[in-house]
Amino acid sequence: MPGIIWPALPDRTASQILAAIQQLNHSQWIGNSELRQLQHDNLRLLLQHAIDTVPFYKRLYSDVGVTEKTPWEQLPIISRLQIQDAGKAMFSLSPPKSHGSINTVETSGTSGAPLRLLSSSVTKFMWMAFTLREHLWRQRDFSKKLAVIRPDEEDAYQQHVEHHNWGFPVSLIYQTGSMAYTDSMQPADILLKWLCKQKPAYLLTMPTVLREMLYQSERTGLRPKGLMEVRTLGEIVNQELRDFCFQVWKVPIVDIFSSRELGYIALQCPKTDNYHIQAESLFTEVLNEQGQVCQAGETGRLVVTALHNFASPLIRYETMDYVEVAGQCECGRGLPTISKILGRERNFLVHPDGRKYLPTFQTEKWMGLAPIKQIQFVQKSVLLLEVRILPARQFTESEEQNLKTVLCEVFDAPFDIVFNYVDEPLRHSNGKFEDFRCDFKP
Ligand SMILES: [Zn+2]
Repeated sequence: MPGIIWPALPDRTASQILAAIQQLNHSQWIGNSELRQLQHDNLRLLLQHAIDTVPFYKRLYSDVGVTEKTPWEQLPIISRLQIQDAGKAMFSLSPPKSHGSINTVETSGTSGAPLRLLSSSVTKFMWMAFTLREHLWRQRDFSKKLAVIRPDEEDAYQQHVEHHNWGFPVSLIYQTGSMAYTDSMQPADILLKWLCKQKPAYLLTMPTVLREMLYQSERTGLRPKGLMEVRTLGEIVNQELRDFCFQVWKVPIVDIFSSRELGYIALQCPKTDNYHIQAESLFTEVLNEQGQVCQAGETGRLVVTALHNFASPLIRYETMDYVEVAGQCECGRGLPTISKILGRERNFLVHPDGRKYLPTFQTEKWMGLAPIKQIQFVQKSVLLLEVRILPARQFTESEEQNLKTVLCEVFDAPFDIVFNYVDEPLRHSNGKFEDFRCDFKP
């Protein structure tokens, strides 16, 4: 409140965020059963609301005989495709007035067709509270400078812009340092020079963009001074990238697992490399091939229910991401924990012997063999692998041959390898990148 110096009186939104944070600070430590009970009460309310007011669920549930009393694990799991087909039938005909104004959320998605859903002031508010939780978990120094390198999807920034603060929601509550933004769809050498000029303490970007800048940094010796931490989102971060970042820039990566339609799904633990599910906002299930709940150490597909979106409820929504379940985290938090995010099924390699797995990348094994600026693998059939390369110069025949031999070793499969050379950095239209993609259904 202007005119009051001390103690500070936060405005209405800031007060609500701080009230939510106080509750989140408590709920992160409560046990699993208490957490589940709190989620359960919300879930039943959401289910009833969906049956009463959302045409998609009304039809689907009456077709399969679901009522508000059906046990949760018997509710059908819904896919992205079903949501796309449903269109406006996913919109509640009567979202609660108390949830505030309704907006449309459009997700681009690497898999093609976008999703159109509704969100409310409540979902936006939750996004702000969890954004702040993430900052507080890392105890960031808000007085420092933040740099952001992301795709400029809405064409809002026109390549480069500088703000005097970090923006919503932090600036509602704290005085912050400045924030500089630039569009990630620029070559790595330009991005790295920009970053070095900005001298931020924190960088927020996508793993692919980070990796390209690290290579550039390693090649040129140009390193950002004063950087304390890199925050990543939007793509999978593997251990190799964490190590590479620490080796070249001497700073850790803190990763965020989120999506446009669900908001924050999991945040990296402040003490370990585990991820904690944001259980106050989402109810998650990790299911194996038989549809049973995975135990610690097992990998399964992630099915999510958003607790607070009553405008376009997502109930048992299949995210298509595979995750590895962890046991109790050593930090002591009661929030469900995952040890690894493995990505989407389409990023799994299909081995000729029938195994399906996410390939690990030992980039150091091939980067020295040929002048590769960027590389991407697309499995075309069980034995055919297309290798897309952005070369620094034309490859020689022996470089191609050596690369083929090493790739077959790394992927542990006798692939026929076809090289395809490109002139432009390999990115999707939304700026995301997949190292490995499988383009056929076995
Ligand atoms: Zn933890």
